[in-house]
Amino acid sequence: MADNNIPQGGGFLLGPTDPTACFTPEEFSDEHKMILQTTLDFVANEILPNWEAIEEKDHDLVKKLMAAAGELGLLGSDVPEEYGGLGLDKIATCCITEAFGGAGSLAVAQGAHTGIGTLPIVYYGNAAQKEKYLPDLAMGTKIAAYGLTEAGAGSDAVGGARAKAVLSEDGSHYILNGEKMFITNGGWAETFIVFAKIDGAFSAFIVERDFPGVSTGAEEKKLGIKGSSTTTVILEDAQVPAENLLYEIGKGGTIAMNVLNIGRYKLGAATLGGCKSILEFTTRYAKDRAQFGQSIVEFGAIKEKLAKMAVKSFALESAIYRTVGLIDAAMEGGDPTSDDYGEKASAAIREFAVECSIDKVLGSEVLDYVADESVQIFGGYGYIAEYPAERCYRDARINRIFEGTNEINRMTIPGELLKRAMKGKLPLMDAGLKLLGEIMEYSPMMVELPDEPLALQEHMAEMSKKAVIYVAGLAAQTYMEKLINEQEILLRLADMVIEAFTMESCVIRAKKAIAELGEEKAAPYIQMTQIYMDEMLPQMVVWANESLSVMSEGDELRTMLIGVRKLLKYQPINAIGLKRAIADRVIEKNGYILG
Ligand SMILES: Cc1cc2nc3c(=O)[nH]c(=O)nc-3n(C[C@H](O)[C@H](O)[C@H](O)COP(=O)(O)OP(=O)(O)OC[C@H]3O[C@@H](n4cnc5c(N)ncnc54)[C@H](O)[C@@H]3O)c2cc1C
Repeated sequence: MADNNIPQGGGFLLGPTDPTACFTPEEFSDEHKMILQTTLDFVANEILPNWEAIEEKDHDLVKKLMAAAGELGLLGSDVPEEYGGLGLDKIATCCITEAFGGAGSLAVAQGAHTGIGTLPIVYYGNAAQKEKYLPDLAMGTKIAAYGLTEAGAGSDAVGGARAKAVLSEDGSHYILNGEKMFITNGGWAETFIVFAKIDGAFSAFIVERDFPGVSTGAEEKKLGIKGSSTTTVILEDAQVPAENLLYEIGKGGTIAMNVLNIGRYKLGAATLGGCKSILEFTTRYAKDRAQFGQSIVEFGAIKEKLAKMAVKSFALESAIYRTVGLIDAAMEGGDPTSDDYGEKASAAIREFAVECSIDKVLGSEVLDYVADESVQIFGGYGYIAEYPAERCYRDARINRIFEGTNEINRMTIPGELLKRAMKGKLPLMDAGLKLLGEIMEYSPMMVELPDEPLALQEHMAEMSKKAVIYVAGLAAQTYMEKLINEQEILLRLADMVIEAFTMESCVIRAKKAIAELGEEKAAPYIQMTQIYMDEMLPQMVVWANESLSVMSEGDELRTMLIGVRKLLKYQPINAIGLKRAIADRVIEKNGYILG
């Protein structure tokens, strides 16, 4: 699969990024655009008119809608053609996921089914398992679920797992005992991916609802995504045919973690769709609502909110499609019918674990921001269940919890980078040492930037990456192998990595837009990049300074802080004026301004 020209996961920190390795939504093929539009139409015409019935958990309706989505090919994009799917690239799948993101609870059902429920079989199933299960899952005639979590095994999903599997005396089947918790689609799925230990070796199984000893519990009563099904899955001497062991004994952790990585960037894509849909109905509401004799959309306070909702969505979109482009490139040429497909796919997906966690954290937090501001723009009506802002606000909250909590994902980001550095896969230590040498000589006053749009932002994106390496290097020097216990520093480092990646993604995308459209037509890209960076760069300084201030004191600390000041010295721009311009475009377009 991956060849040497594909950037390394986390490699963006090490220097200027080759823009050709940074996919943007402006590079969608006609097929991508068609798939996106087909899904948006399906959501608008089939799902949204039924949202009240879906919220009431009308199981029959949900099953009917899933089958209709399957017929349109919206469930089988990741399933190879040989097994009844469409075998599309990851960008196409992301277009579908994004569009479903505006579908509330049904997006969760669709996401769990096509992602964590189906992908373990796509990547790790043998030919017989693929032939048996994938055609029904691709068509939506059967629904899939994923059972990893247990009461005592949440974030510590592998270490804390108690579910056990024992091979029967005649070797014909495994006997599974345990209880899985919070399983999405639990109430209506026919096929479950279930994790259990065989003599302590964490393993995965394909379990059918009708197997003896399998049952599901009552529906959980939830804060949001009320139309999705969430139940326990109970295994009481459940009899699972021996041939339903997935992949190999002891490889459950590999399956669980790699599938979660995919789930993470897909969650980012779904939150993006949620943001765009919220921005649209909120803009329309703000235009219609009058107070003090004028539409509230004319007030600067409301305009600024709409602009920030659009800008954060733009930044998220830029980060998501960049990641998906990287994964697509790494997986290109893989043969889904070959025996080592799972192993190769695992390596390709694992390569971008850092980027997947970035997308998950960024997406879930941008969606929460956008949903919260939507409630505020709706005023009192935002608090009333009859209006969509209320449901979206509740629905958004789960995204910071599942697919690994945001704390776990934040810890994964520096943890994974440091692991790679230790193994010599990513020369971060060398870069840190070089930077510490250079920084004494460096003066931001000496930097001469070309007279072209976004020159300052491009420079600051590069400096932000250096700031990450600077703080990470000092933290590694200070704490050595004990850095892993300094969670507050790791969280701030993660935030710095997330924003360094996202700011650079915005800059590269905007520069590509300038090259393609010219400066005038690319104005929204330029302005949104400027606004985003103007907000994030001061944040980078805070995260860096807070991290250093706990590591050191006195003269040594003062010297360290000078380094941050030099690297992140930044001239503020007229962000209010730019936001007014973006808000005007949002109002004119009734929502998100690109695409
Ligand atoms: C609606 C819903 C649907 C779900 N769907 C599925 C599904 O389909 N399949 C499935 O398997 N699971 C599913 N889950 C489970 C979900 O993935 C877990 O809830 C999640 O992983 C967190 O586990 P936990 O709830 O046990 O929290 P805990 O692990 O107990 O975490 C509690 C808090 O402690 C923090 N924490 C934990 N460990 C650390 C650490 N090492 N360092 C710092 N902070 C830490 C967490 O970030 C969190 O803030 C679902 C959950 C919900 C609510």
